[in-house]
Amino acid sequence: MKIAIEGCAHGELERIYDTIACIEKESNTKIDLLLCCGDFQSTRNLEDLQTMAVPKKYLDICTFYKYYSGECVAPVLTIFIGGNHEASNYLQELPYGGWVAPNIYYLGYAGVVNVNGVRIAGISGIYKGHDFLRGHHEFPPYTESTCRSVYHVRQLEVFRLKQLSGKIDIFLSHDWPTGIYEYGNKAQLLRKKPYFAADMESGQLGSRPLEELLKAVQPSYWFAAHLHCKFAALVPHQNATKAPTQMGDGSSSSSSSSSSESDDEESTSRLPPKPVAVTKFLALDKCLPRRAFLQVLDIPSEAIEGNPTFEYDAEWLVILQSTNHLISVKENYYYLPGKKAGAIAERFNFTPTEEELDSLTTKFQSLKIPENFQRTVPAFDPQEQSNYKHMVVGQPTAHLNPQSNTFCSVLGVDDPLCLALLANGKDLPAVAVKSIDQKAEETIVHVQDQCQDQETIEGSSSPPPEPLVTPSKRKLNLFLPAPTVTADATAAEKDDSAIDLPEEDEDPKTAETAESEAVDKPKVEAVPPAPSSPPSVKKLKRRNQNIYQAEDDD
Ligand code: 5GP
Ligand code: MN
Repeated sequence: MKIAIEGCAHGELERIYDTIACIEKESNTKIDLLLCCGDFQSTRNLEDLQTMAVPKKYLDICTFYKYYSGECVAPVLTIFIGGNHEASNYLQELPYGGWVAPNIYYLGYAGVVNVNGVRIAGISGIYKGHDFLRGHHEFPPYTESTCRSVYHVRQLEVFRLKQLSGKIDIFLSHDWPTGIYEYGNKAQLLRKKPYFAADMESGQLGSRPLEELLKAVQPSYWFAAHLHCKFAALVPHQNATKAPTQMGDGSSSSSSSSSSESDDEESTSRLPPKPVAVTKFLALDKCLPRRAFLQVLDIPSEAIEGNPTFEYDAEWLVILQSTNHLISVKENYYYLPGKKAGAIAERFNFTPTEEELDSLTTKFQSLKIPENFQRTVPAFDPQEQSNYKHMVVGQPTAHLNPQSNTFCSVLGVDDPLCLALLANGKDLPAVAVKSIDQKAEETIVHVQDQCQDQETIEGSSSPPPEPLVTPSKRKLNLFLPAPTVTADATAAEKDDSAIDLPEEDEDPKTAETAESEAVDKPKVEAVPPAPSSPPSVKKLKRRNQNIYQAEDDD
């Protein structure tokens, strides 16, 4: 399978797809998948733009909105993680991942998916030590502080990723693992970026949790961005404890996790053992002319007929479910279970067992990721809003996304954004059942209906209310559901629980507020098909680049 990897996209989707089209034409080949390593900037409209952490003068709507509105269609399945310049309000709607536009999929705070049998894991955000141990307490509209902390990596996602067993083919991160420069051409890197030297000396260049993940997960490939330069490295994994296995490329390898809590016990997973002794690391630049921002690799996969298959990862779903009780939405530091827990008999190894993997089939008959994108807000209008740089626009309030609603209901997990809103005494916004396109059509029908009515009945009634799932019908689901529950037997039938957060995280206000709001959860909504949009007409001409200069604002 031919995979294109992009460094920082910085909203330049049109340019990236144009580049891919050029490569396909020149090398007479087809790219099957595009992976983007953050700073994606999925701003749908001007309100989204206000949630992006960037100096005001650099606020640029760029081109993502065209793929959201349907004016253009992503020509290749695109998967991305978040960086430190994002439409944070939109990404927060999809904590476990989801479609941000047709054919463009966000991996969530962290996520694992399978594309044609290639197992891809990733984590969003950048590392800042002072926020790592906090819960996901942020929600829009953001303050000066939460507008930045919202994209800082949290321990829960790192903990969850460390529970993975079996082979990970590709890992995506925005920043680099600390120490990675020791495994490549460090001298050349320092010639390009001499100001990295001080941070290298002090061990500050990159992310420590990512270094731990690199050693624990040992993926075949690791792709990153953020430092705005191309850099390759080969990382050998030395601490092998298991019997060597034969790698696909003929080399021999062994596997183990070095720093994962999950290595205490032999993995009970049915997945094949990790067969990689070396991780091939590649960081790419941001999308600018004459910069190394895109790389195409041919990675062994299942045979492709037409579009690649795109599936959830069973092990990851089980981990999300079995660690659901570890979610915190509090701002203060809290601690996750570990082997040094002493007398506390609490589970700390969440690598899924056979039984847990089996129980998943009662919820997911198929692991195929549904094509359930819906437009839920109006897209940027370039005609009406051409002078947007001079307009005063406020931040949006929080929206709940129907994709997350469906995912959480089926898997029996909580949406951290809902929890954060409830914990802060906010009302939950309604979840749209129909996309705004369908609503627009309905409005036209109503207007016509009224016109017809007026011919027969004078002063006819107003149109019916919009089809929404009311927030009061949503139920918190902080206990694990029984493994036998079927997809449409939701939390409403199985859960009359009170909040049961870990002791360190106990917050009377959270528990009270949440308990008082705990009413029936909505039934799983039918999954509507993705709206079809006309294919885009691509222009291959080079335009002047509005150079993105917001260097290292975080
Ligand atoms: P962004 O596009 O995310 O605002 O900024 C990325 C820029 O910040 C790049 O130019 C990158 O070199 C710089 N940068 C990011 N992290 C670090 C770091 O830890 N140390 C140094 N010296 N520069 C960094
Ligand atoms: Mn960045």
